[in-house]
Amino acid sequence: MGDGRHSDATNTTDNGQYAVIVKDAAGFAPPPNLLDYEAVCDRFSWDAARAMLEGLPDGGRNIAYEAVDRHAAGGRGGHEALRLIAADGSRRSLSYAALRDASCRFAHALAALGVAPGERVFVLCGRVCELYVAVLGAFRAGCTVCPLFSAFGPEPIATRMELGDARVLVTTRALYRRKIAALRERLPGLRHVILTDGSTTEAEPDTHAWDGIVESQSADYVLHPTRPEDIALLHFTSGTTGRPKGALHAHEAVVTHHMTGHYALDLHAEDIFWCTADPGWVTGMSYGIIAPLTNGVTNVVVESEFDAATWYGVLERERVSVWYTAPTAIRMLMKLGTEALAGYDFSALRFLASVGEPLNPEAVVWSNAAFGMPFHDNWWQTETGGIMIANYCALDVKPGSMGRPLPGIDAAIVSRGEDGTVTVIEQADEEGELALRRGWPSMMRDYLNEHARYERCFEGEWYLTGDLARRDADGYYWFVGRADDVIKSAGHLIGPFEVESALMEHAAVAEAGVIGIPDAVAGEQVKAFVALKPGYTASRELNRALLGHARKRLGAAVAPKTIEFRDNLPKTRSGKIMRRLLKARELGLPEGDISTLESDEH
Ligand code: ATP
Ligand code: MG
Repeated sequence: MGDGRHSDATNTTDNGQYAVIVKDAAGFAPPPNLLDYEAVCDRFSWDAARAMLEGLPDGGRNIAYEAVDRHAAGGRGGHEALRLIAADGSRRSLSYAALRDASCRFAHALAALGVAPGERVFVLCGRVCELYVAVLGAFRAGCTVCPLFSAFGPEPIATRMELGDARVLVTTRALYRRKIAALRERLPGLRHVILTDGSTTEAEPDTHAWDGIVESQSADYVLHPTRPEDIALLHFTSGTTGRPKGALHAHEAVVTHHMTGHYALDLHAEDIFWCTADPGWVTGMSYGIIAPLTNGVTNVVVESEFDAATWYGVLERERVSVWYTAPTAIRMLMKLGTEALAGYDFSALRFLASVGEPLNPEAVVWSNAAFGMPFHDNWWQTETGGIMIANYCALDVKPGSMGRPLPGIDAAIVSRGEDGTVTVIEQADEEGELALRRGWPSMMRDYLNEHARYERCFEGEWYLTGDLARRDADGYYWFVGRADDVIKSAGHLIGPFEVESALMEHAAVAEAGVIGIPDAVAGEQVKAFVALKPGYTASRELNRALLGHARKRLGAAVAPKTIEFRDNLPKTRSGKIMRRLLKARELGLPEGDISTLESDEH
């Protein structure tokens, strides 16, 4: 520890004791929440995790209470909860007390409109203050929240709202005009639209201006006494492998959100935290709203989309201490090189984490050079509701590994027999399907309107994730690929991630997407699509050099047989490479559901 530090804050540790936090000019450097992995796992129980929160009388549970009211009532009402940085650079700050009051007003507004607990409130807007207030207000009122990504076109919005039987929609005037107005006839169940920036003279029936319907309400609201199993959230998956599924989550999920924020993201109440994900995706809800607030931090919200200079500026100016982002953004930063970081002061940063896709080892090496610390990869899914496997602050990072299971999470590598029976593979380094023992609080409770599909995710005690992985002798998990993406070539099972990561090591490669294409001899043949970094041009020589590099790194059996250059790879709006689309296009097959496709490179 450096000189000149002084104790100026406290924070509870996992065993409930107060630990002294030290802060100095160089930033906030608390002791990690998870110091001794084995010891914490051994003594962990979900009851102890529940005791980190408060709950409602008679065993009730409400996310808004744990995220906001608990702090406001516990003497931290004045602490900055949300720091919103608008696209025009203007800033807005809400304390925990202000966030409680604002979300109480929203809950009253829902009641005034006759919206009942259990009904669904959809949110379709950018990362503006009203989104956060509406989400917390809807939890408070016992409604189910369904966030939608604002860049969706009218069709994906309509489908999701129809499927989810939306009763209320919170959106902006511009989005309403462009995407919703023409759909209203298709959505007879949609009774009310609240426009965050609407004027009180709104002409459309059942369309209300936020100012008119919310701001005049009282800030005293008696929280709806939700039960732990009441459904709080409907989240649609990213649609990487097919039509998006609607995962339902209960209020009790907040126990996982809180615990994983504490252990995996190492959140301490004095942190300035920034999760770059949009709340339209599960990461932006679980870790862009709920976990940071239950952990009492200052949560930075940036309205504008990715731009390297803006992002570096936010990290520096806001003195962000914990940063949670995604491989796709990291790859874009890497593309610009470490030169782009020159002159910025990142001394407040103390912990970096990543989720959503495999984090190539190269990205960890880069972040060590760029920020003086590694990105900590972690793994989870919309269905798991919260982080399940992670690299921790106090543990060594093995670049390319997703880390180790969270305390309370029993993970295994399993194989499925022809008859569906599941066998746990005890042997280290064997590939198989990643499974989790059912029963953690944020496990999805169902797929919307697809109960049979939900049932198929389980076999006995195990939830089967559909991802392939292996566990090494130290207990670290390594992602191999999605079961759907794995390539079978000449008797080998090849995970696209391994091939993509090897290609990424080459100085010219910005991104790579790898698929299997049918081959009469080998079954499948490995093909790579590669986007180049600025300053490199596609050429036959470079193609040959990349093939040679891959063969040297991976061996002839695993290396791609062909490489094709692309300006961009097709990605979901949450930033995941859509290998199924690369494949469909390559083979001239139907493209399937492309409602979450970000940019069409055709
Ligand atoms: P869909 O289920 O609709 O095809 P999706 O699986 O991409 O979409 P999400 O729930 O957003 O939807 O993503 C979860 C998936 O993302 C995981 O199952 C895994 O395949 C991938 N993923 C998430 N984090 C990681 C990680 N750290 N390493 C590797 N893969 C990851
Ligand atoms: Mg999935």
